[in-house]
Amino acid sequence: MTFENLNLIEPLLRALKTEGYSKPTPIQAQAIPVLLERKDLLGCAQTGTGKTAAFALPILHLLHQDELFVKGPVGIKALILTPTRELAIQIGDSFTAYGKHLRLSHTVIFGGVSQHTQVKALRDGVDILIATPGRLLDLMDQRYVKLQHLKMLVLDEADRMLDMGFIHDVKKVIARVPAKRQTIFFSATMPPEIASLANTILSNPVKVEV
Ligand code: AMP
Repeated sequence: MTFENLNLIEPLLRALKTEGYSKPTPIQAQAIPVLLERKDLLGCAQTGTGKTAAFALPILHLLHQDELFVKGPVGIKALILTPTRELAIQIGDSFTAYGKHLRLSHTVIFGGVSQHTQVKALRDGVDILIATPGRLLDLMDQRYVKLQHLKMLVLDEADRMLDMGFIHDVKKVIARVPAKRQTIFFSATMPPEIASLANTILSNPVKVEV
């Protein structure tokens, strides 16, 4: 199995070469074909398995393809919810690396720092937003983040978001995004509360486990 076999667009293949990735990890080999078909995904995977690229590559691929065919409305097209600032920054760095030959923009927002720079980045317009739940809700309430054009939603480390007490915020965000969307759900463990959340927000998901 190679990244070429997965039919990813050439600008992504070139970026992966630069990163020195020679072949997809098991989670990538299983998840990428499913996501490129625009299906929902329920993934059971820990950090370190390559799960970030498993969702980031399909997001970049699909949003790029969409841009080629129709110049849709400006706005956030993909949202990644993640529990911590560190993870948010890492995911942002991954989008920078994989998306270096594409014209898609992204930004990272998280709490514990002034919102000023984050608001400025949002005002410039972004295609992809990586966020921790609390700061996201805060900026949504202030109307700096609008999600009416969202097409893809990722919940990263859902079990950790539950442990950290963010599940209520996560549910509030989900209640405010379009129902017609592709949803990607990753969790290392599946306790009942997480399984139930997955069940309510995913539509006919393909399950992958590594
Ligand atoms: P993650 O599980 O997404 O946090 O990724 C763990 C690490 O694996 C990161 O440092 C990635 O850069 C790296 N990585 C992801 N996919 C691959 C791959 N296909 N080949 C080599 N390294 C990879």
